[in-house]
Amino acid sequence: MGPQGAGKGTQAARLAEIFGIPAISTGDIFRANIKGGTDLGKLAQEYSAKGDLVPDEVTDSMVKDRLAEDDVRGGFLLDGYPRNAHQVEALDEILTGLGWELDGVIELTAQRAELLERISKRAEVEGREDDTPDAIARRLDIYDAETAPLTAAYAERNLLVQVDGIGEISEVTDRIVAGLAQQLG
Ligand code: AMP
Repeated sequence: MGPQGAGKGTQAARLAEIFGIPAISTGDIFRANIKGGTDLGKLAQEYSAKGDLVPDEVTDSMVKDRLAEDDVRGGFLLDGYPRNAHQVEALDEILTGLGWELDGVIELTAQRAELLERISKRAEVEGREDDTPDAIARRLDIYDAETAPLTAAYAERNLLVQVDGIGEISEVTDRIVAGLAQQLG
C-alpha cells in the first residue's frame, strides 16, 4: 500500500523478482484492458481518467479471477489492492475461500510534496492518461480518505510493515526485504 508516486509499482516488480512470485497490479490490469479496448477497459476508463476508483464489484471479481490462476499458488504480491474498507473485506473472503492468509502488508510512506514531484516526472516519462493535475489530486485525496486508514486495521492484525519510501530505489527495496524478514520471523 502507498499513495500514488510512493514507488509501489517499481518496488513490486523488484520484490516479484527477488521472491520469484507474480506482482499483481490492479492498475496495470485496468490499463491493459483500456489499451485493448475490452468492455472492462471501457468501464474502467470512465473512472480512472478522473482518478476515481473503479467500482468494488468489478475490481473484487477481477482480483478473485486473477488469484484463481495457477501461478499464484507459490505466493503473490498485490499492488494497488485493497484500496478501501470494502476491498479489505472482499480480499479476506477471497483468501478464506482459497485457504490462504496474508503474510504481511507493506506500506510505503512519503510526503505529499515528494509524491507530487515524482508523479509529475512520471507523467513526462510515461504519459499516463490519468496523470493530469485534477486526477492526481483526486487520487491522493482518495488515498488519504479511504486507503491510508486501512493500515491501522492491518497493524492491529500484526501484518503491517511500514517502510520509508524516500531514497534510492535499491535502498527502499532493502528496507522492505528487511521489514518483511522481521515480519515473517
Ligand atoms: P494505479 O496504477 O494503482 O494508480 O491505478 C490506476 C487506476 O486504476 C486508479 O486510479 C483506479 O481508477 C483504478 N484502480 C486500480 N486499483 C484499484 C482498486 N483496487 N480499486 C478500484 N480502482 C482501482
